[in-house]
Amino acid sequence: MSDTPITADPFDCADILDGIRRWVEIETPTDVPEQVNKLVTMVADGYRDLPVSLERIPGKDGRGDHLVVRSAWGQDAPGILILSHLDTVHPMGFITRLPFKVEGDSAFGPGIYDMKGGAYIAFRAFRQICAAPERSPLGITHLYVSDEEIGSPTSRTLIEAEGRKAKYVLVTEPARDGGRVVTGRKGVARFEVFVKGVPSHAGSRPQDGRSAIRELGNVIQTLEAMNDPAHGITVNVGVVRGGTKPNVIPEEAYAEVDMRVPTLADADDLVPRILGLSSRTEGVTVKVIGELNRPPYEKRNAGAALFEHAKTLAAEIGFDLIDTASGGGSDGNFTAPHTATLDGLGVDGLGAHTHYEQMFVSSIVPRARLLHRLYQTLR
Ligand SMILES: [Zn+2]
Repeated sequence: MSDTPITADPFDCADILDGIRRWVEIETPTDVPEQVNKLVTMVADGYRDLPVSLERIPGKDGRGDHLVVRSAWGQDAPGILILSHLDTVHPMGFITRLPFKVEGDSAFGPGIYDMKGGAYIAFRAFRQICAAPERSPLGITHLYVSDEEIGSPTSRTLIEAEGRKAKYVLVTEPARDGGRVVTGRKGVARFEVFVKGVPSHAGSRPQDGRSAIRELGNVIQTLEAMNDPAHGITVNVGVVRGGTKPNVIPEEAYAEVDMRVPTLADADDLVPRILGLSSRTEGVTVKVIGELNRPPYEKRNAGAALFEHAKTLAAEIGFDLIDTASGGGSDGNFTAPHTATLDGLGVDGLGAHTHYEQMFVSSIVPRARLLHRLYQTLR
């Protein structure tokens, strides 16, 4: 199925909204690769007959494919890399709870804000560049990955390789807090905690047991105490499991942990402390695995200049572009350490990852135009 023909007005809001609807209506949970691949096919079809080359990288480890779209020009020099993800956090069938609908300025749907809206406007702006007689000064590469929502395990190498080749990286993650773009992000670490104790009958032989859940309680207290909001450090024990029955002293307990840090020094301090957590109870073992899967970044010279350029373009279009630092990680974390990166260029909205996720319709056209102007003017 091909996308809408390139119309006289490339930034017709209703037309773009309809395209976003079609992407949203193909649900794409990260762990349902056949669904993600359906959308990859639709996206790839949208470039038919345009001066681009497509490379589809087969998914692995139960994830969907990645798609790289390269302009036919400018590929012999560092160019523009656009980073998008097609997966969403929402489980299959969530669309019955959050169907696509428009109410006032809000368009609802799973992943519409994070980030199908943003990926789609970048796709449209690229198509528009392809259709125009005049080429952009730099080559354009749009990378769509399938596993960003779980930390990009199967796409990270590709993102880093494309990021190093590029002169600029534009990330279509959602805009923040009234349309802000993101020039700094915290690093993200993920851990799993495995606790093993000794089971016994809780009523008749409690003295023989060593509770894995009680020990996990100790571990959770230690982890939660690492929170340092003033310094921007967050540690969240987000998942716990353990035990089998109320009358059994539990042999096993498990937790998943998310940590965010503003600087690499914080990561160097905290990651080893978490990996080194040990049991305080004889007969119980604690094992932690995990790592920093997205390094933090702060606004740097090249990124700052890219932001200033985008701000000038936004003013010409008619809006004020403001930047912020974000606690959320994104694929921009992989490119920002070595390439000027501007993140949060997607649509504005709210409720990412929730049952009320929505995109502001009024943000579609200005932000599509901004991306288009960035493609036209970056050199
Ligand atoms: Zn996202």
